[in-house]
Amino acid sequence: MKSDIQIAQEAVPKDIREIAGKLGLTEDQIDLYGKYKAKVHTDFLQGETNEKSAKLILTTAINPTPAGEGKTTTTIGVADALARLGKNTIVALREPSLGPVFGVKGGAAGGGYAQVIPMEDINLHFTGDLHAIGTANNLLAAMIDNHIQQGNALGIDNRKITWKRAMDMNDRQLRSMVNGMGGKGNGVPREDGFDITVASEVMAAFCLASTLTDLKERISRMVIGYTRDDKPITAGDLKAAGALTALLKDAIKPNLVQTLEGTPAFIHGGPFANIAHGCNSLMATRTAMHFADYVVTEAGFGADLGAEKFIDIKCRMANIKPDAVIIVATVRALKSHGGVAKADLNEENLAALKNGLPNLMKHVENITQVFGLPAVVAINRFPLDTEAELAMVREACNAAGVNVALSEVWAKGGEGGEEVARELMRLMEENDGSKFSYAYEVDQPIMKKIEAIATRVYGAKDVAFSGAAEKEIKKLEKLGFGNLPICMAKTQYSLSDEPTLIGRPEGFTVTVRSIKVSAGAGFLVALTGDIMTMPGLPKVPSAEHIDVDETGKISGLF
Ligand code: ADP
Ligand code: MG
Repeated sequence: MKSDIQIAQEAVPKDIREIAGKLGLTEDQIDLYGKYKAKVHTDFLQGETNEKSAKLILTTAINPTPAGEGKTTTTIGVADALARLGKNTIVALREPSLGPVFGVKGGAAGGGYAQVIPMEDINLHFTGDLHAIGTANNLLAAMIDNHIQQGNALGIDNRKITWKRAMDMNDRQLRSMVNGMGGKGNGVPREDGFDITVASEVMAAFCLASTLTDLKERISRMVIGYTRDDKPITAGDLKAAGALTALLKDAIKPNLVQTLEGTPAFIHGGPFANIAHGCNSLMATRTAMHFADYVVTEAGFGADLGAEKFIDIKCRMANIKPDAVIIVATVRALKSHGGVAKADLNEENLAALKNGLPNLMKHVENITQVFGLPAVVAINRFPLDTEAELAMVREACNAAGVNVALSEVWAKGGEGGEEVARELMRLMEENDGSKFSYAYEVDQPIMKKIEAIATRVYGAKDVAFSGAAEKEIKKLEKLGFGNLPICMAKTQYSLSDEPTLIGRPEGFTVTVRSIKVSAGAGFLVALTGDIMTMPGLPKVPSAEHIDVDETGKISGLF
């Protein structure tokens, strides 16, 4: 069997000007980054309404398991399938972060015959957006400490600085530190730390900004810490917004590449799906909706996190909504939810599969009943799935009245996604969008919003707030942040806040330990459990297997 990178390297990509041409873009409307990548100008978005808008298809999934689900692969393959059916289609995805690339997960450019290319570039430095975002983050960090060094006119309490430094790497060594050591001329000593760049608020604000001006306003609102008497200090107070935005003026333009089958793909922005909202930039989504009739996009992790935030945060801010949702499930992952260890997933196990199916059903209920959107379950077929297992998933979905289709895009490319694509077309024809709703309304009190997400979307019995969280909620409501949407920071592995509660847990309590404001992104982050904002590398990082030969050809990326 060929590896993802072998398949990607054997492809003969089209000149990116040809892909841009398919969308009606002239060479004046793109900036070339070599032969196969371009950034697209977005002047046309100024003042554009969403009236002409394309159909928006969201890909989400069951709760992730060590078995892998294949959302990105499915998103790309279904876009190729729609293109094969003659539809003008664009796929919109997140930019991979180097942390996961060199850590456990590997790249994020799809897999098998459903990939975006050039996959090495996309997975490594691409067009430099992540570097620009990290640099903007760190300029602000430098300006904070310089402000304190130069006399601290704003009265920043250096024990209450919430802004961290950022780097696009999994490096647990940098999580917590004391810096500014070395005496008077070398800064003011304080506790500090690094987040991975994709967890920076700059990334979240970047991805929710509708224009460069909107980005500047969002950056200006970012809270970096507090004074002794708890007055928030913003990037605007530090006069940093202009320079940070200047660093991002090119990064903000969506990146155009192509799938293995030549379907146009926007890959732009990539916020973490735990402490941020986990989907590609709004600029890319809107640009795609401007040029295509069908846009297929992905939200991170399972539907409890990614899809909920896509709808309740991004769609609400942008006044857009999905026309249909693909819920990806695999036999392997469902068996994993049924309690099978990773090493035993290759064996047929109908009993475990049956036990795991309720996880899928809860996500289906959420999409169709909580959010009122039409959904199709795409069974992402893996090589060792048996016919009996595939039939069981199909029958369970049919029995529950859920639409289901087999996806073989990993093995066959777009052709293998036609069953899903046809079902989507049928669903979108039937659906008039009238049943769509959010999980909560933004003008509800903060606690009520969190309770709505936990009980309606996660299936929790109730929510417990720590004493600290209650205090923070009062403070944030007093500061005027009460009307922001909620970005839940929760484990992705379970519908609950306890990673080991796989399947479909019931009767559990979600515990909110603390709440913080991301005023630039425009949401409140509610933290449950231990949420990692700077991951570490595993015992055997995938970096150990990556190599490059004398011609510059890369191997070992996946
Ligand atoms: P997600 O977006 O859900 O994290 P990806 O689409 O990135 O998942 O897929 C994760 C990994 O699983 C990739 O390396 C991909 O090649 C592999 N994969 C996805 N679908 C299949 C499949 N049907 N058969 C075999 N491997 C697959
Ligand atoms: Mg993905």
